[in-house]
Amino acid sequence: MIRNPIPWPNKARCAVAITFDMDADSLIHIARPEDSHRRLYPTSMGRYGPNVAVPRILETYRRFGLKQSFFIPGWCIETYPDTVEAILKDGHEIGHHGWIHEDPIATYGNQREPFERALDAHRRICGKVPRGYRAPVYNITDEVVDLMLEHGMTYDSSLMGDDIPHSLQAPKGRLYEMPVHWGTDDWPPFAHYDEIGYLMPVKSPSEGLAAFWEEFESQYEAGGFFMLILHPFLTGRLARWRQVEKWIEGVLKTRKVWFTTLGGIADHMTALENAGTWSPSVEPLPYFTTPPAQQG
Ligand SMILES: [Zn+2]
Repeated sequence: MIRNPIPWPNKARCAVAITFDMDADSLIHIARPEDSHRRLYPTSMGRYGPNVAVPRILETYRRFGLKQSFFIPGWCIETYPDTVEAILKDGHEIGHHGWIHEDPIATYGNQREPFERALDAHRRICGKVPRGYRAPVYNITDEVVDLMLEHGMTYDSSLMGDDIPHSLQAPKGRLYEMPVHWGTDDWPPFAHYDEIGYLMPVKSPSEGLAAFWEEFESQYEAGGFFMLILHPFLTGRLARWRQVEKWIEGVLKTRKVWFTTLGGIADHMTALENAGTWSPSVEPLPYFTTPPAQQG
């Protein structure tokens, strides 16, 4: 069982969101700021995302009629405007993912500048302020929560405290949370990236993706929420994406699922709350105001 299941539209049994974090080459520039311009291999690995993988992913979504969510750092929005335009033209959602993938813990106390610089890129190039946010490396902080609320944003997707979407009650306001976890993230099975400290043994496409499909089966059985957290330069590679396509095709034929954007889930939650038919579990923030291990 899961606690407080959400009644999904059209009696769907499970909501499904295939989310992509289009980090592109921001990862190498933030990790190696002094000489990333000389590092052609990791730059090319990142550029594969917007240049090769995203067009492939968009083609699949068009074929199946799906609208999905992408999270893109502001610097990548500015660097790859044609890819961003293609994503928006097909009706997908783009969320906030930092300026150049800076870790909100590493920049704690100074997040306003990169956060708002990214918002400006969204305004200028996407023509709107994003409703959702996913923290680079999931490291959301109270500082970012405050900035999100100040800018009228609706949901975060960085935390791991529940199985399904719920609500975060912070001192300055409320957000929805679309929870992530490592079992549905493609970094552990597929990332091999020495320059940023990851040397995972790369799994075969079927083995790496099989873990995700097991996660789906239990969420489906429980009437829950299945979200993948993918990266175009990892899962948008030919052999992996071919298997994801086959999975989408099978699920659309045989299961009652609701493929949607995270913004779509937020709207559905608001509608249920307004109708008084369901209310979300509430996670109060902050969890702590001082480090517990340092208390006397
Ligand atoms: Zn990222």
